[in-house]
Amino acid sequence: MLQEAEITVIGSGLVGLSLTIDLIKQGYKVTLIGQPSPELPNPANRVVALNLSSKEFLTALGAWQNLENQGVTPYYSMKVWEKDQAGYLEFKNTDVNQEVLGYNVVNSYLEKALWKTIELLNPQDFTYIESKVSQYQKLQGKHFVSLENGEQVISTFLVAADGGNSFIRKALNIGVNRNEYSQTAITCVLELPEDHNNTCYQSFHKNGILAYLPLSNSKQVSIVWSLNNDIADIALNFDADEFCQQVYTCFHKGLGVPKLISKPTAFPLAKQYAQEIVDDNLAIIGDAAHTIHPLAGQGVNLGFADVWTLADLIREYYRRNLGLDKNKLAQWARSRKTKAVMLSEGMFLIKNLYCNDNKALTFIRNQALSFANKQDFIKTKLINFALGFNEDKYSLASYNHELDLDKQKENSLGVNQELKNTLEQLPNLASKLLNSFFKK
Ligand SMILES: Cc1cc2nc3c(=O)[nH]c(=O)nc-3n(C[C@H](O)[C@H](O)[C@H](O)COP(=O)(O)OP(=O)(O)OC[C@H]3O[C@@H](n4cnc5c(N)ncnc54)[C@H](O)[C@@H]3O)c2cc1C
Repeated sequence: MLQEAEITVIGSGLVGLSLTIDLIKQGYKVTLIGQPSPELPNPANRVVALNLSSKEFLTALGAWQNLENQGVTPYYSMKVWEKDQAGYLEFKNTDVNQEVLGYNVVNSYLEKALWKTIELLNPQDFTYIESKVSQYQKLQGKHFVSLENGEQVISTFLVAADGGNSFIRKALNIGVNRNEYSQTAITCVLELPEDHNNTCYQSFHKNGILAYLPLSNSKQVSIVWSLNNDIADIALNFDADEFCQQVYTCFHKGLGVPKLISKPTAFPLAKQYAQEIVDDNLAIIGDAAHTIHPLAGQGVNLGFADVWTLADLIREYYRRNLGLDKNKLAQWARSRKTKAVMLSEGMFLIKNLYCNDNKALTFIRNQALSFANKQDFIKTKLINFALGFNEDKYSLASYNHELDLDKQKENSLGVNQELKNTLEQLPNLASKLLNSFFKK
């Protein structure tokens, strides 16, 4: 059967679902093609730390309200350190006059809330097809997809939100810049003898990075333990006691020996970004466009920013019946790519800087953390980054009004200026760091 849609979204993960809601609200005839997410030993084995911009965006969509506080845990501070070293970096909500620093949200609950939002909208012109795209073609300027269940869909605009292994990206012969981190993320739920105090903790050690993400039970955390692949294989075969003992050792800063609540799950990690993310009337967003190390907790935050910026463009151009050819999408693509490259390269650098046991580097890293912790300027920059208060800050005001193209141009120039300012400040920061280092 051949179906027609104005816009087809491929992929029903967090990114594809949120764009679908936005497009339904804009009044488009939307077809969403996707599959249910795989079951996990415990829903909280997969948690995302969402920044305040993402929360605002999900609230404007009407999805945050549908979470009904289920699987949502606010956190008020973050603490980062290196195992066996005294230096640390700590951020608090009070440092930036915010009520919270962010929220840990269970992926599957957020997915359910997004589905409920669609249901409540009761859209007449929406079709969901539970299947997989197996073929893509461009026919007379339209996008034509064949699905594994035998159905076919033709549409004017197509969005690929089909994850890191994107079928559409490959069908378009778009290459990726990819580096293996050679790490696997192990996730599970642990119970601590002590309260987590609604703090996110992250410990760097030579074989990896261990994050504790607080859950609504004041003693339970969801962990993301990124380990070099060979060590991850060993860790996945530990019995529960050995696993918890090793976690406790790598965590290094207390909270007691944890108890394993759910069977660990493994996710291979890679840094990857697509060389192109647009074509005529086509855009690639979310993990299909970029995957980054979970150490920054920014992957889906970046994906949601793809969504609201793309939705703004679609709103602007299609309302005026202009269509969005590759040229019109180019500026959006440039600004999204700059963001993704900065984040993924930054995380790659941090991972390589920390996951080794070079003695000189250990000393410098420790000094750098202590130094950064005392510098309000650096701390504010880092907190603003973590909060999502950078050039992509989601603003309800701008979202609810037509996006003026000149303003968009200004925003994009702002990105470059911000990047330029940060780069210009680097030598200054480096010399301050070295001065403080040699004075000791
Ligand atoms: C361990 C771990 C921890 C993380 N922690 C954080 C965090 O704290 N904060 C944060 O912001 N990010 C985090 N991330 C990243 C975040 O989880 C991802 O960026 C986000 O889930 C990506 O969503 P997506 O919708 O783009 O892709 P996906 O979730 O991969 O969804 C893609 C969808 O497309 C479907 N699909 C694939 N191929 C086809 C096809 N051919 N046809 C139809 N459908 C198809 C799939 O079935 C899937 O439903 C973490 C990632 C990991 C691995």
